[in-house]
Amino acid sequence: MGKIEKQEILDILDKYDKENITIATLGSHTSLHILNGAKEEGFRTAIVCEKGRDIPYRRFDVADEYIIVDKFKDIVNEDVQQKLRDMNSIVVPHGSFVAYAGLDRVEDDFNVPMFGNRDILRWEAERNLERQLLVENDIRIPYKYNSPSDIDRTVMVKFPGARGGRGYFVASSPEEFDKKIENMKSRNWLDEEDVENAHIEEYVTGCNYCIHYFYSALKDEVELMGIDSRYESSIDGLVRMPAKDQLDVSLDPSYVITGNHPVVMRESLLPQVFEIGDKLVKAASKLVSPGMNGPFCMQTLVNDDLEVIVFEISARTDGGTNTFMNGSSYSYLNYGEPMSMGRRVAREIKTAIKEGGIEKIIT
Ligand code: AMP
Repeated sequence: MGKIEKQEILDILDKYDKENITIATLGSHTSLHILNGAKEEGFRTAIVCEKGRDIPYRRFDVADEYIIVDKFKDIVNEDVQQKLRDMNSIVVPHGSFVAYAGLDRVEDDFNVPMFGNRDILRWEAERNLERQLLVENDIRIPYKYNSPSDIDRTVMVKFPGARGGRGYFVASSPEEFDKKIENMKSRNWLDEEDVENAHIEEYVTGCNYCIHYFYSALKDEVELMGIDSRYESSIDGLVRMPAKDQLDVSLDPSYVITGNHPVVMRESLLPQVFEIGDKLVKAASKLVSPGMNGPFCMQTLVNDDLEVIVFEISARTDGGTNTFMNGSSYSYLNYGEPMSMGRRVAREIKTAIKEGGIEKIIT
């Protein structure tokens, strides 16, 4: 089975009643503001939700229709897809949608119109592709080490797969790297393949800023929507301990995201912020046609030389957008009214339906 052709999706969209579009997503991650924003823009909304996980959506009343499934991954089942098409649904993807549905299924057999560029999801998921997007236009990223024996300063070691920051570690020499790897192997946290694929990069001592952009393919413009910072366990708990106690407990920190807080950056950093967003959009249009489309996020660390260093990309709505469900300082400057990322997506769809260009934003 091959990749879904864009024309197949456009043919489905062609049969939709454009006056009666439903915005749908999977009930997890950022679905609250995706659906709330869609309602604010006048759409009907639908949620595909795992049994027992529907409570927040009912309590906040964001969905008009519920499709309850046994497992989140069932969103790709043919009967669920048919229900979505029957409601004239446009699906807005987010991190959990991609994780549960699986990239292969999304690319090969999810025959429901989606907002954004379906093909770009693989580029954020695979570290080598993600790196190409960043290096194409010289976005500053952490220096990458090709071999543990080259470690000459403090590095961050990451492993493949969706571990959510669990098992990352910091090392300052090849010996420390080997010792920590052996320790993790003895606990069965790693196998040989993980070790071969370990990603070693410069440890950036800086503050975390995750920058949320919206690229409007209709206007050909990159908008700054908001910025958040991550709250991670156990590292953020660990640093609340006095240093001498940290040494005593000798805990290995992990970097598991448990929440986010909204932040703003020094105003003098904003030229870099816009430059990074513009560069990524240009790189994407060259490498993964038709390019970026809608929400994306650059996860950065800012060091004391005031360099904004990007260590990760999300090429769809990122979890940190939950910090500005009623707008951020930056979205206020653009819109002067509450503008979540979900609402911005819905507004783009509404504009395209009204003024033309839907084929540019649907995949
Ligand atoms: P990631 O899974 O790549 O999103 O990283 C999880 C967390 O690890 C980040 O939110 C940062 O706190 C930390 N981190 C990732 N890369 C680096 C780096 N190069 N230097 C310092 N901290 C990092």
